[in-house]
Order: sequence, then structure tokens, then C-alpha cells
Amino acid sequence: MPTVEDVVEAFKQRGFAFVGMASDGWLRLNGPLRPQTSAFEGPCEVQLDPSFVDLPRIRLLKIPPGLSSAVPHLGADGGLCYLAKGAVTLDIYDPIGQSLACVERAAWVLGRILKGEMIEDLEEEFFAYWQGLYCLADIEGDSLGKQSCLVGAVGEDMMWFITDDVDRTNRKLNALGYKTTNKTILTYRIRTSAKPRPLQGRWPPETLGEVLAWQGVLDSRCRRKIHERVTEGDKSKTQGVLILIESPLLTYGFGVLYDREYRFPTTKLTVGADPIFGLKVIPLSVVRIDDRYLAQRNMPGAATLAGKHLTVVGCGTIGGHLADMLIKAGAGTCGGRLTLVDFDCLLPQNIGRHRLGFTDLLSNKAEAMARELLRVAPSADIRALPVDVRRANLGKLDLLIDATGEQALGHWLASRYLRPTPMMSVWIEGPGTAVRALLRTGASRACHRCLWHSNKRGELLSIVGPLPQILAGHGCEGLYVPFPASVSLHAATLGTEMALDWAKGDFSPALRTRLLDRAKMFATADCDPPTDPECPLCIS
Ligand SMILES: [Zn+2]
Repeated sequence: MPTVEDVVEAFKQRGFAFVGMASDGWLRLNGPLRPQTSAFEGPCEVQLDPSFVDLPRIRLLKIPPGLSSAVPHLGADGGLCYLAKGAVTLDIYDPIGQSLACVERAAWVLGRILKGEMIEDLEEEFFAYWQGLYCLADIEGDSLGKQSCLVGAVGEDMMWFITDDVDRTNRKLNALGYKTTNKTILTYRIRTSAKPRPLQGRWPPETLGEVLAWQGVLDSRCRRKIHERVTEGDKSKTQGVLILIESPLLTYGFGVLYDREYRFPTTKLTVGADPIFGLKVIPLSVVRIDDRYLAQRNMPGAATLAGKHLTVVGCGTIGGHLADMLIKAGAGTCGGRLTLVDFDCLLPQNIGRHRLGFTDLLSNKAEAMARELLRVAPSADIRALPVDVRRANLGKLDLLIDATGEQALGHWLASRYLRPTPMMSVWIEGPGTAVRALLRTGASRACHRCLWHSNKRGELLSIVGPLPQILAGHGCEGLYVPFPASVSLHAATLGTEMALDWAKGDFSPALRTRLLDRAKMFATADCDPPTDPECPLCIS
């Protein structure tokens, strides 16, 4: 394997000289960066990670004449962004080839920059060019125009929370440890169809006039709206205004403080212009904390459980982990609700494989899960029913989930709720031999009891041969089936996957099995079993 010295030697042959070590131990080499498409030859500094795990840093030592401060891929200090981190994995066994390839790539990027190309990349990089004070946006509706702004405080720290639902956002603000103050700031939300990119020229804009000129290039309608809103704020004699601009790429924004004593002198160019053009602007980094974004961020455009009414019966080892994953997939948000039903208490013997921990010992599992999940998602609507499900009134539901793992109770639930309500059961077979889930969405599909009849005849079994019957425990503690927490997580994962498919309208395959015991043989492929002729619930 080539050594660091070998790599330095290879760079020397390309006209680079070793000039020392950076403060973090990276090697510094100076040499020429030669784009093939341009006469320009820039002196640059290449810094190499001595372990060759990270991408080399490449920085122009001289900014080519005529380049403005906002060009794609070139930082203020001359740093070239020639490859996105994460886009490639460096081969640490080929440090020479890899490092030289990076320099070539950087030269190619510089060549394109010099030709004025890659402008569209500015859109992708915009967030790197527009950074300022943080403000958190918790907006769920579509209404544009005036929004509420809560000012949260922790000691000296203040944070703006922009919202279209003060109650909901207060819960989030408090969950973060902020206290709501009686302060507020006038805030407007404006939508644009233009993806933002920095202007080639003066950047970043410092005055409202510069912001308007910039926006005029991107979207003249948006420019007009911004002007109107800032004027409105000026007339209302308020101290300042926040403008949020929602673009197809991201939401960004800026603040304006109305300096009523002093207005910037107008320059020759702005004679006769509106005096508010001289007001200073403060860029805002807008961070979305709305529930839709939190649930959808990892699966853009995919269906979530937002807006659905779901009930999980059983908050044991499966139900606890399952409820947690459902909440992360949007359950209980955007007008939906998650109901948790369990009459049992958390005991020491549960903790090793339960979502909850020691601090919830002896608490009712449904209530403790609801408390825990509100910590995870403070604005979710979560209802705990600490009762036997047979005495609960579940109301109208979009999906009933049986996570009790108790066959008899599953059959009772099916007999009581099957007719109008889609129902999903998720359970563990044997001592963690396999996990299974069954979704029943219509009268022609097998219910939980149907599967029981089929299984009795040796059909639709999870594994070939009988399931191992292993019980542990002794004395008053009662017998239990031993399996590790990982098995419950497999079951909860299968249930979540099926619930998300259901939300998408994808009801097939309705019976799914994941074999966990590698010593056993898988018996039934995922399928859509019809009703069983012996099932008393499904005989019409
Ligand atoms: Zn049935």
C-alpha cells in the first residue's frame, strides 16, 4: 500500500510542493490547478487527509479576476466544492490515484465556473449562501399572508417560532424547554415558484432595495408581494417584520427592522425610490418543524400516517415499539389520532424487551407510552385507554391494530370490529421463530380467525413442521415465551411497513411472514388468503 511519502512524491511530479502540515495534521501541498478549457492557471493549495478517508480540500490561492463572490462551488476563501461529500467513497488502498483524480475533478469544475456554467447548481447550494439567524417554522396549512410568531425564551436565549396554530406550536416550544413570552413580531408568508439562487454580483444583499432587485430577477410577483408586506409593516408602526419565502426548493426568509430615526441615504441610483429600500435586512435560516416535514423528510412524497385515526391494542413489547414507529411515520398528526389501549402495568420483567424503561416501572403501559410518545412528538394527538379493550369504546377508526399477540383476544377483536373496520394483526410465532402480520380490509379477505382455521388444517403455516413450544419462568411469575427484544422489533417493523402500505392504499400481500430462526424452513410465501370456509366470523 502506498505511503504518505509516495503520495507526496506523485504530487511533486505534477508540479506540487509540500509546504507543511495544517493544524489538524493534514498535509499541505501547493501547485497549479489547470482547467483544460481555459487559459487561466490558478495556484492552489491541496490538503490531504493522512489517513485518506476524507476528500482532499482544494482551495484557490488566487481568485480568478472577474469572478463575483457568488459563483457556484467556490467559497469565500477560495475553497472549491468539487465533489459532494457522501457522493463518493474514497478507496484508501489507492491514495495516489484517488487524490490525483480529485485534483483533476477540481480543475474541471474550475473550468466550468470560469465559463459561467453550472449556474443551476447555485440553486442546490443556495442554503450555503443564505445563512443567518435561526427561526423555526411550524406551518401546516396553506394560508399565505400574515402568520403568528411566538417568541420562546430559555434564559437569555430567544427563538422565533412561526406558526399557523399557536396551541400546537406552544407544545413543541415547551418540549424544547422554551417558555413562551408575550413578545411577537409581525410575520408574512409569501410563496414563489422560483428556486432561489444567489445573484451574480453583490452578495448577500444587505438592504431591502437589494433584496427586491434580486427577487425581481427570480420572480417579479414575489418581489411585488415582499414590497407590499414590508410597506404594510412600516405603516403599522411595528418594530420589524419577518418575511418567509416558500420556494419549491426550501423556505428561506429575512427580517427587517424599521429604523424610525434614521433611513439610509438614497444613492444616485435610488433617487426617487421608496425610502424603505434603504432598510437593512437580516437573513434568516428557516428550519421546518412541521409534522408533515418530520414524517416525510426521509421518504419524499410517500404516504404517511398523518391524518389517520389508528388504535393500537396492546402496548407490550410489540405494541410499544410499533406505536413509536407509527408516531415517527406521522400517526397522531395533522388531524389524526393514535389511541393506545392496555390495562397492564410495566413490570421489571418487561423492561428488557419493552420500548419503555425503568422510570415507567409500575405505570400503566398505555399511559406511560402516551407520555413517552408526546416527548417524541409533542404535537401529536395521542389518547391512552388504560382499560380492557373489551370494555373500551374505540369510536370510529381508520385502522385497528392488534398487537396483543393473544390469539383469543384477536378473535374477539375480529368478531367485534371486523365488519366496518380494516384490521391488522401482528404477532410473534413460537419463541421468536418468525414474525407475522395479517391485514384484513374487505369481506373477501381472510381474517385472523380464518388463518387460525387454515393453520389447524396445516395450511398457510409460517414454517415447515411444528412451531417449537418453549416456555420459561417459574412460580407465581407465570410462564412466558422467551425471545429477545430484537424479535419484537422485527414484528414492530413488519407492522409499520404494512401500516404504511395500507396508508398508500396498497393492501397486498395481506399475509406477511419474516422467518427469524435460520434452522427452520419457510412454509408460506407472502400472499392474499381468501376467507376460510370454516370461519364463523366470515360466513355470511
Ligand atoms: Zn374469518
